[in-house]
Amino acid sequence: MVECINAERRTPNAERAVHIPRVILITGGAGFIGSNLVRWYLTQQPTVRVINVDALTYAGNRASLADVEEAHADRYRFVQADICDEAAMARIFSEEQPDTVIHLAAESHVDRSIDGPGAFVRTNVMGTFVLLQEARKTWAGRKDVRFHHVSTDEVFGSLGDSGFFTETTPYDPSSPYSASKAASDHLVRSWHRTFGLPVTISNCSNNYGPYQFPEKLLPLMIAKALKGETLPVYGDGSNIRDWLYVADHCSAIARIVSAAAPGSTYNVGGRNEQTNLAIVHQLCDLLQDARPRAGGYRSLITFVPDRPGHDKRYAIDASLIAHDLSWEPGETFASGLAKTVRWYLDHQAWSDILIARHTATARRGAG
Ligand code: NAD
Repeated sequence: MVECINAERRTPNAERAVHIPRVILITGGAGFIGSNLVRWYLTQQPTVRVINVDALTYAGNRASLADVEEAHADRYRFVQADICDEAAMARIFSEEQPDTVIHLAAESHVDRSIDGPGAFVRTNVMGTFVLLQEARKTWAGRKDVRFHHVSTDEVFGSLGDSGFFTETTPYDPSSPYSASKAASDHLVRSWHRTFGLPVTISNCSNNYGPYQFPEKLLPLMIAKALKGETLPVYGDGSNIRDWLYVADHCSAIARIVSAAAPGSTYNVGGRNEQTNLAIVHQLCDLLQDARPRAGGYRSLITFVPDRPGHDKRYAIDASLIAHDLSWEPGETFASGLAKTVRWYLDHQAWSDILIARHTATARRGAG
């Protein structure tokens, strides 16, 4: 058990509940974390039915789930729909009568939120509002249901050299992305306090692993390195993030959904603080072992002007979920990174198709 850094915070969330999901509506299930979560439920919970609602924006990829779609056709349904579309959401809720909503659909890339914040306000704020209203209407006061909102540690802003984000850290978002996620967290919490909707929220650190769109740090760097292209690192590469292997995030979400008290919030992280440069170095070294390159991959690293408003450091105190819900990550950063690099090497075509489809990605650096 991880030491509880903030023992005084045990009280608010200490109460546990039992919720057994039968029909789960997962939004954004064709994206990175969503596709891993759909796969997690279908493979780990053999009786649960999963409805995946996704608009298939540039970040959505149905091919990520082709195998589970076939293997679990009897209890899996994909619906292409926009979460801002009230009529479509009403239809899905009415047809499927979900007892659990796990909401991941979002515009998720910080750089894109700088270039075009409107889509972030629309999907992340308005879309969350539409889902909350639909859940409230459909569930009509039921307590044997859950609305789980998947959020980010970026809502807390930036840390200095020390300290951790806890569940009571004040919100202080820096980018249009994190501001829109902060707004959606506030909506979700208020639907619990005002309307009694049984909600839970998780604020998680940076995820990495299979099926991540190749505009984010790890898959972008792997794809570029394999092509012998330069590896653009923001600033001097000293920005720090806490990293969690995506399957561990999925197990944390499932634990919160089934065991956390309505109204509770949990921080989720891997206790893996890394500078962006350290990550790229480790990645280069793993690639060098797997696909040796003359001169090595580290020589491809170039430093590019920093992202505006770039938060310096994120670090999660995940002791509350360890204490209340007995959740711990299964992977170390070394084991997760090795699995991730292996996966991208074995699935190069998956990334190449997405890169070819969306050549405008990663205009700046990465981080
Ligand atoms: P992603 O960009 O890979 O996937 C988002 C998915 O949402 C895509 O499939 C996209 O098609 C879908 N989508 C976008 N707009 C939609 C709309 N209007 N209607 C329906 N579907 C829509 O994102 P991700 O990295 O998998 O993140 C998923 C969630 O987890 C997000 O809410 C994000 O804020 C949160 N989160 C991500 C991380 C991370 O490191 N990736 C960390 C913490 C929290």
